[in-house]
Amino acid sequence: MNDQPHPSSVVQPTEELLQDESSAATAYHEAGHAVIALSLGRSVEKLSIVRNSIRLGAVQLGKGRNGRKQDYFEIEALILLGGLVSEARYTGEYNWGGAQQDLRALRRLSLARVDTEQKAERLERRLLGKTQHHLDQPGHWEAVESVASELIKSKMMSGRAARHLFDEAMKRFHQ
Ligand SMILES: [Zn+2]
Repeated sequence: MNDQPHPSSVVQPTEELLQDESSAATAYHEAGHAVIALSLGRSVEKLSIVRNSIRLGAVQLGKGRNGRKQDYFEIEALILLGGLVSEARYTGEYNWGGAQQDLRALRRLSLARVDTEQKAERLERRLLGKTQHHLDQPGHWEAVESVASELIKSKMMSGRAARHLFDEAMKRFHQ
């Protein structure tokens, strides 16, 4: 869910370093979506940081939901913001451009709830805070780090593997 096009492929001395940095940031972005989804009872089909012409990486979510009380809107919003927030925690700054697609999807959801752009912005700021708070919950950030480092190594992973790393991180905090 990261749609920032990659810079042109003109060969420059620093290109490889830049790519490494951007793929690590992308891994944190996708891991953020996935961990928030898993923590809110959503399933994840697969994750990828393999670049193509339209996106840097992707998380494919499963359809299943369990009986969480949290409402659908909030779950979707936190998952969408999870990429931006997680990536920012890793790089130290918000990559608004790289999260454009996520933010557009969020705005569509918000505008189904409130009637003006201004109210939507206010709502989204509150949701951004909630997303940060959610990643502060015990085990969540450790799970992001663990999924991201596996993604950096393997470039792709199954939802099952992500679930396993998530469960491991949670176990370390709840035993
Ligand atoms: Zn995204």
